[in-house]
Amino acid sequence: MIGKINSIETMGLVDGPGIRFVVFMQGCPIRCLFCHNPETWNINDKCTCYTPEKLVKKIINYKPYFKDNGGVTFSGGEPLMQKEFLLKCLKLCKKNNIHTCLDTAGTIDDCEEILKYTDLVLFDIKGTNKDNYKKMTGGNINNSINFLKLCQKLNKKMWIRCVIVPGINDNITYIDELATFIKEINNVEKIELLPYHTLGVHKYKELGIKYQLENTPEMNIEKCKDLENYLKNGLTK
Ligand code: SF4
Repeated sequence: MIGKINSIETMGLVDGPGIRFVVFMQGCPIRCLFCHNPETWNINDKCTCYTPEKLVKKIINYKPYFKDNGGVTFSGGEPLMQKEFLLKCLKLCKKNNIHTCLDTAGTIDDCEEILKYTDLVLFDIKGTNKDNYKKMTGGNINNSINFLKLCQKLNKKMWIRCVIVPGINDNITYIDELATFIKEINNVEKIELLPYHTLGVHKYKELGIKYQLENTPEMNIEKCKDLENYLKNGLTK
C-alpha cells in the first residue's frame, strides 16, 4: 500500500498540541477560495510515495521531541482522500503510543474506523450552511455535516478552525451563524479564527490556476482577533 505525501513538517507548532510531525497528504476534493496549498489538490500531481511502515518509522524517529503532548498530525490537502493508507498509519502510530491528530474539513464519508484511531480532530469549518459552504469551496456541505455527527457519536475531542476572509465572512452576521453552528458541537477544546493571507498566491501562477481572490486584501490580524473574541463571548451566552 502506497500513500501520496505532498510534504512533511517535522517540528510543527500550530497543527495540534505540543510539537507535531505534520504530514501534508496529497489530494483534496474541494477548492477553498483562500487555499494556500493548491499544489496538494490533484492526487495525481508529483509527490512523494511512502508505505505506511516507512512513514511511521520516520515519525517514530521524532518521538523524543513529542514529550507529553506532541505527536503526529495528518493534514493536507484532505487526508481523508487516502483513507486506507491513513487508517494503516494511524493504527501503527497508536501501536507505538503516538498521539494522533487529523486536520480535516470532513469532506469524505464513512470515516468511523479512522476516527477510532484519532485522538483529536482539527475541524476546519468552511461554511455554516449549504450556500456559504458552496461559495467558499465549490463543494457540498453534507459530507462535512455527516463527519461532524460521527465525531459527536464517537465523542471525539475537537479543535475548531475557520479562515476569515475580508468581504466574504468577516462580518458579525457570519460570526453569529458560526456561534450557532459551534454551539451544537460537543467536546470543543479550542476555537481559532485564522486570518486570510496571500502567501500562497504565487503558487497559482506557477500551476496555471486562476486565483479567484485576486483583489482581496489580507485579513487584518487584530480585526480577526476581535471577531474571535466576539465569537467566544457569543458561545458563553
Ligand atoms: S480543504 Fe484545505 S487543501 Fe483543500 S482546498 Fe480547502 S484549504 Fe485547500
